[in-house]
Amino acid sequence: MSKKMLKFVTLEKQMPAKREASERREDFNEIYDEFAPEKAVEQASRCSQCGIPFCQVHCPVQNNIPDWLNLTASGRLEEAYELSQSTNSLPEICGRICPQDRLCEGSCVIEKGFSSVTIGAVEKYITDTAWENGWVKPNAPRVELDQSVAIIGAGPGGMAAADEMRKRGYQVHVYDRYDRVGGLLVYGIPSFKLEKDVVERRAKLLADGGVTFHLNFEVGRDATLSELREKHDAIIIATGVYKARDISLPGSGQKGIVPALDYLTASNRKGLGDEVPAFDSGELNADGKDVVVIGGGDTAMDCVRTAVRQGAKSVKCLYRRDRKNMPGSLRETTNAEEEGVEFVWLSAPKAFHGDGEVTAVRAIEMHLGIADSTGRQVPVEIEGSEFNVPCDLAIKALGFDPEDIPTLFDEPKLAVSRWGTIEADPVSKMTNLEGVFAIGDIVRGASLVVWAIRDGRDAAVSVTNYLRQAATQAKAS
Ligand code: FAD
Ligand code: SF4
Ligand code: SF4
Repeated sequence: MSKKMLKFVTLEKQMPAKREASERREDFNEIYDEFAPEKAVEQASRCSQCGIPFCQVHCPVQNNIPDWLNLTASGRLEEAYELSQSTNSLPEICGRICPQDRLCEGSCVIEKGFSSVTIGAVEKYITDTAWENGWVKPNAPRVELDQSVAIIGAGPGGMAAADEMRKRGYQVHVYDRYDRVGGLLVYGIPSFKLEKDVVERRAKLLADGGVTFHLNFEVGRDATLSELREKHDAIIIATGVYKARDISLPGSGQKGIVPALDYLTASNRKGLGDEVPAFDSGELNADGKDVVVIGGGDTAMDCVRTAVRQGAKSVKCLYRRDRKNMPGSLRETTNAEEEGVEFVWLSAPKAFHGDGEVTAVRAIEMHLGIADSTGRQVPVEIEGSEFNVPCDLAIKALGFDPEDIPTLFDEPKLAVSRWGTIEADPVSKMTNLEGVFAIGDIVRGASLVVWAIRDGRDAAVSVTNYLRQAATQAKAS
């Protein structure tokens, strides 16, 4: 093994420097600096090059982490980039926003007593360096093929599938109802986690490689699924999940109670320079307000931190379990706390107070009872413990469900699960309709960017096999 590795014994784990919370609160820029080159080399060299690398096993795209860490530690960055991009279509994006504490880094089995290797930040460093040096090139194919594929949805799943299909020479048409490429990368995730030009340069790269984008094109409004099937040889559905889960509580429907994604989209659009009347009117703007966010996932963390940056007077997060049992990334919770967010653990909403405009969330204290069939302790109300949390903006971040895709796409035969997600074969990603594949959140339910990428790449392999078979059959007949 290279003498450059195994330095975990002498070197502490380090992340790139984080800007001071007081400075972060004032803008929407990313909070981590880039690694200095010598720091990236140093941190990569902590890896002990495990025979069975659990970091790789638990990375959804099975990145060859030990090898690209070794190349980075040896200063062979261009090769590190080639290797890292061979398994991941958006490595600098995953490096920024994967919950590494639950995936690669959380599974790093470096000797007991030492903290895990820094993986995500090194992946980001490798790819950002590749962009700076012009090593990232469009995937222009060597041979152009006649067959075409329609991808519905330009989020990370659709982008990964488009990249892989185009590489193989197919004519790739991506349809999206939004005016920009990126899905939740652009309109959901705030720019303090992922700056928008990082997504834009990826979208441009795809277009430069010959992917055709049809933006402001909503399937269901501008075409039915069957119309697209007539035009294209295969379809990949990657439409994500957007229907906000709701709670019907007394006092719902008043002004000042808003769904999380509306709130985040308005903030992201404003940051991109769009006109957003609901932001300017104050409806979707936390400036000067007491804000309560209900929920404990990634979306809730993004809302509280956005509210801080918009100049909220106070920001509280109401969650019915405790810190240890939050679904959101622990790293993001810590960032939120540093930025001044107050967490009201073990508390659930019971009602909204107000006389047309919300003035408080009525909440009740909870305790964690016995575990359910999933092993998670069930929160139980503590009788007589109700209290008010005053607010003039209440943001509901309770998760997302799929829209009714068969009705929307005018395709009642498309099979969906009882939760409304599209049923697709777990390996081939094909739905019950011939030549129609589905990937990402619309199959998994609300999940992660890196899983959508994995699905997009897997679907590209299956769609290629499918199209090859169709071409062979067409020749034979
Ligand atoms: P999406 O990204 O949702 O893209 C779907 C696309 O399909 C959209 O562009 C949409 O406009 C388009 N579309 C939908 N319907 C139609 C139609 N009828 N016609 C045409 N186009 C259509 N994951 C992480 O890994 N890390 C994070 O930090 C993180 N933070 C998050 C924060 C928020 C606020 C949210 C909401 C999610 C977050 N996620 C995070 C989850 C992650 O964003 C999603 O899992 C991922 O984007 C799913 O990718 P996708 O391609 O399946 O769908
Ligand atoms: Fe870790 Fe995500 Fe990169 Fe995989 S893709 S190595 S899980 S940051
Ligand atoms: Fe290196 Fe940790 Fe992966 Fe082992 S598990 S190869 S130490 S990063």
